[in-house]
Amino acid sequence: MNDFVFKDGELYCEQVPIGKIASEIGTPFYVYSLGTLKRHFKVFDESSKIMNSIVCYSVKANSNIAILNFFFRSGWGADIVSGGELFRVLKAGVDTSKVVFTGVGKTEKEIEFAINSSILMFNVESMPELYLIDGIAGRLGKKAKIAFRINPDVDPGTHPYISTGLKKNKFGINIKYAVQSYEDAGNLKNINIAGLDCHIGSQLTEISPFNDAVTIIKDLLYKLINKGFDIKYLDLGGGLGITYENEAPPHPSTYMNSIKSILNGYKGKVIFEPGRVIVGNSGAFITKIVYNKSTGHKNFVIVDGGMNDLIRPALYEAYHEIVQVVKKRGSKIKADVVGPVCESADFFGRDRIFNLPEAGDLMAIFSAGAYGFSMSSNYNSRPRVPEILVDKDRFFTIRQRETYEDLVEKEHIPPLN
Ligand SMILES: *Cc1c(COP(=O)(O)O)cnc(C)c1O
Repeated sequence: MNDFVFKDGELYCEQVPIGKIASEIGTPFYVYSLGTLKRHFKVFDESSKIMNSIVCYSVKANSNIAILNFFFRSGWGADIVSGGELFRVLKAGVDTSKVVFTGVGKTEKEIEFAINSSILMFNVESMPELYLIDGIAGRLGKKAKIAFRINPDVDPGTHPYISTGLKKNKFGINIKYAVQSYEDAGNLKNINIAGLDCHIGSQLTEISPFNDAVTIIKDLLYKLINKGFDIKYLDLGGGLGITYENEAPPHPSTYMNSIKSILNGYKGKVIFEPGRVIVGNSGAFITKIVYNKSTGHKNFVIVDGGMNDLIRPALYEAYHEIVQVVKKRGSKIKADVVGPVCESADFFGRDRIFNLPEAGDLMAIFSAGAYGFSMSSNYNSRPRVPEILVDKDRFFTIRQRETYEDLVEKEHIPPLN
């Protein structure tokens, strides 16, 4: 089932024509289907219940507070990677006893904010970080709960920029030093050991790297338990992939069943941190053709959205399906879909086929709900675009379009002579 469907040759999100949203709010914009979000939530949530588990949605995939609020109201917690994300999840009504804080560069301010917010645990990525957390907790007169993020050295078979569990990556603690790290942490006064964490990368489309990582982590888990460490939480991260083109990632229930059979009777709670698999295919980026350009060598469809709005093609050479919002007949042309930004990496698709693309036509770039708006920027002084949430026959602006004033609001010209 899909909530982005053509009816009489025109693209709808649920019961709302994309063209109607465009005429009311202009282009470009992101549009998300609440129906898809609910469906993906339900599939993952039900699958996760075959184990004693908590789902902590990975905020960085799509951080809009309206979307976060839906997950939190439905019982999920959050996986955060910055103080800004902690601020967002608090605004969105999170239960802080379900917040885990990951990331290699947590600052003193961020750690203090998180301890004062009584989060579930820190996923600690280095020993200097551990000692800093211990010191801050001591100063605040509190105990900080921690897990170590362990790097199992498993190749997730994904793009190098989204691999995180290889020994050459900056993430986690080398598994060779894992037991020593727990022993050292056990000697710190203001640290409570709570868990064990692992996240090997994103957009995984095969089950085997997950199985490899969980098998390695399970051995460590039982080694730690046998040494007397109370590992209440086993955090297995996120990373389950989605279909952008013709990938066939495992279904969440396949993934969960496989993990359950490997873990074989672990008594604690398992934490999952899904991001992309929940929000990726719930969103599309809508943009309008400004010009058709032929250089004599190649055709370009130039649209009003750019790499600053959706950077995945430029950053990862990611594929996104692109369609015309109103189906057309007529001669086909092969063209690159590009934005207005002054970079050759500013493209959305190469050598795509369209029927008679013309200035003014709306284009939909699919699978843009994850790492779309959340990675957008103001590069080329382009105001960030609005985000729209569709619920059946209604739509809501969940983030307004930025203005030119917004672009310079925080800037000051000093009185130089
Ligand atoms: C990015 C990230 C996730 C989410 O990854 P997805 O591929 O979007 O599921 C989960 N955990 C951590 C630690 C991450 O950095």
